[in-house]
Amino acid sequence: MGEFDLIERYFKRPVNRAVLGVGDDCALLQPSPGTQLAISCDMLVEGRHFLSTTDPFKLGHKALAVNLSDLAACGARPLAFTLALALPRAIDSWLAPFSQGLLALADAHGCELIGGDTTQGPLNICITVFGEVPVVKGRSQALLRSGAQVGDDLYVSGTVGDARLALEVFRGTVSLPAPVFDAARLRLEQPTPRVALGLALRGIATAAIDVSDGLLGDLGHILKQSGVGATVDTEVAINLIASYAECTGARGQFNTEIKAEQWLGWALAGGDDYELLFTAPAAARTLVAAAADISQTPVTRIGHIGLEHGLRLVDGDGQYVPNTYSSFDHFA
Ligand code: ADP
Ligand code: MG
Repeated sequence: MGEFDLIERYFKRPVNRAVLGVGDDCALLQPSPGTQLAISCDMLVEGRHFLSTTDPFKLGHKALAVNLSDLAACGARPLAFTLALALPRAIDSWLAPFSQGLLALADAHGCELIGGDTTQGPLNICITVFGEVPVVKGRSQALLRSGAQVGDDLYVSGTVGDARLALEVFRGTVSLPAPVFDAARLRLEQPTPRVALGLALRGIATAAIDVSDGLLGDLGHILKQSGVGATVDTEVAINLIASYAECTGARGQFNTEIKAEQWLGWALAGGDDYELLFTAPAAARTLVAAAADISQTPVTRIGHIGLEHGLRLVDGDGQYVPNTYSSFDHFA
C-alpha cells in the first residue's frame, strides 16, 4: 500500500461542515459568522505518551480526545482536525482499528478530518483541532486560564487519578483487583473529552484548563495567569478517584495495600485525566450545577480562589497539609 492509497483508504472522507476536505493542497474551513477559530495541537509519541503495545483503536480515540479536551477547556465547539502521522510501516491490521477509533470519536463530536500529512518514521501522531467560539458584543466567549477572580469557587469535573493508577499497574508498582483495574485502564486509554461541559460553562466559568499533567500543576497555570492563589481541600480531592471509593471506605468492596498519601498523590498530580478544572463566582453555584446537569457531567467543588498568592492544601478540618506533589514536566 502506497502513501496515497493509505490516505484514500483510511483518512479520506466526505466533509459536511468544511468547504473542502482531504485531497487538495489545503482544506477550506468557513467559521460561522460572529465566531473566532480556536486552534490547538497535541502530539503523541510512542514510548513517551503511550506504550508500543497500546491497542490501535484506543490510541486513535486518545489522540483525538486529548485535542478535543483542549477545545473543551476553551469552551469551543469542535469543527475539524488535521492528522500528521509518522508510521514505521503501513499495516492494515494497525491502520484499520486506529482510523476507526479516531473517526468514531470524531463523528461523536461532529469534528471532521480535513487534512494531514503522512510519512514513514517512528510512530508519532500529531493532531491539530479547530473549533469555534462566539464573539458577543465584541467580546470573545472563550474560557481562558487568566480569568480567575478572588472569591471564586474552584471545581473539577468527573474523576481524577485513575489514569495514573492504571499506569502504575502497567509499570508494576501497584496491583489492583481486576474490575478496579479495568475501569482505571479505560480512563487511561480512552479518556472522555468534556466538550459539552466546556460549552455549557461559557459565560459562567471565569477561568478553565484541562487537566493533562496533574491537577495541582494545571491549577498552577490558572493561578499564575490570573495572578491569584488557591486553597484546595485534600479530603474532597482524594474522593475524586473512582478507584479509591471502590477500594476503601464504606463502599469499599476490595482491600488494597495502597496508603492514603499515595491515593492523594494520584488525585493531585497523577495526570492524563482530561477533566476540566475551572473557577466560577460563588454566586454562580446554581448556574454551575445547571451546566453540569445539561452536559451530564458531574462536577465537584474542591476549593476556592484567594488573594494570597500560591497554593494551599487543607484537610477536612481546614488544617494545612504540606504540598509535596509535583506534576509531569517533559524536561524536568
Ligand atoms: P502536499 O504534498 O500538498 O502537502 P500530500 O500529498 O501530503 O499533500 O497530501 C495529500 C492530501 O492528503 C492533502 O489533502 C493532505 O491534507 C491529505 N493527507 C495526507 N496525510 C493525511 C492524513 N494522515 N490524514 C488526513 N489527510 C491526510
Ligand atoms: Mg505533505
